[in-house]
Amino acid sequence: MKIIEEVRNAGSIAVGGHIRPDGDCVGSVMGLYLYLKKELPEAEIDVYLEKPSEIFDCISHIEDIKSEFNNVDLNKIYDVFIVLDCADDRMGEVRPLFQNARKKINIDHHISNPGCGDLRIVEPERSSTAELLYDLMDAAAVDAETAKALYIGIIHDTGVLRYSNTSPHTLQIMAELIKFGFDFSDLIEKTFYEKTYVQTQIMGRAILESVRFMHDRCIVSMVSRRMMEFYQVTSNDLDGIVNQLLSVKGVDCAIFMYETGTLEYKISMRSNGKVDVASVAMRFGGGGHVRAAGCTMNGTYHDNINNLAIGIAEQLDIE
Ligand code: AMP
Ligand code: MN
Ligand code: MN
Repeated sequence: MKIIEEVRNAGSIAVGGHIRPDGDCVGSVMGLYLYLKKELPEAEIDVYLEKPSEIFDCISHIEDIKSEFNNVDLNKIYDVFIVLDCADDRMGEVRPLFQNARKKINIDHHISNPGCGDLRIVEPERSSTAELLYDLMDAAAVDAETAKALYIGIIHDTGVLRYSNTSPHTLQIMAELIKFGFDFSDLIEKTFYEKTYVQTQIMGRAILESVRFMHDRCIVSMVSRRMMEFYQVTSNDLDGIVNQLLSVKGVDCAIFMYETGTLEYKISMRSNGKVDVASVAMRFGGGGHVRAAGCTMNGTYHDNINNLAIGIAEQLDIE
């Protein structure tokens, strides 16, 4: 199946992703947007997403993203709306645009997503939505700018081709993408590894204050709103902390949470495969993958740890 066949006759098309968009979400959404714009020059094509981190400013036409939802007409009816890297429940404020569209397409790789809309392409064995999208595109019609966006998506969801979701096919696609000659080394450095000074400081603080429990097989850390104010950081600046916590020798499961409101926390979990963190996150209305998942929880920091620990302990066979 090729995506172009599903949208060829559409006069108006919109592409969107999930709230707090990560590299795969931004890369996929922009990759598909650039591809469709080139393939269907007559069509009206819009792209909706919460404002991405400025590390993604290197993606062509990133400024076309409609992020100011106040100025968006939520009653507009698109011929096709394609939502990527999530189900429509994580779209945020533009969800009505998807629901009102004449044709709704969902392309994702989250095991926790049953799919939504009229056409549901959810393949959990894929490293990333960007990888899946590349196969849904006509390779001959992919240009350097689309390739770069998809490359960023794959790099971010595979932790630079390090996570176990990386397959031989992922690497074959990466080989095709780097043939376009963009400076992939610089892209990886600037979008994945480089941190600002305050990002480095808050990561240091979170690591310093981390605590191990469950016979040292779990590790947890938290960043409060007060800390975020002190270091002048936003949630975008906290990426990478949970992965760093999982790197501690002997740890099977890492939990990182930051305060989003009064008694409200955004939870990120990572595992080395011994714990299915998606199933833990799903108990609290979240989801994700076996080794990387998230949710939002209400309650105190310690209540949240206790509640998450129940599902983790069951899987680690700890009383
Ligand atoms: P995070 O730790 O927030 O970066 O998320 C890890 C993985 O879980 C990513 O693939 C997210 O897309 C997914 N995820 C995070 N939060 C949720 C949620 N509330 N519902 C479904 N999937 C989520
Ligand atoms: Mn994502
Ligand atoms: Mn993804």
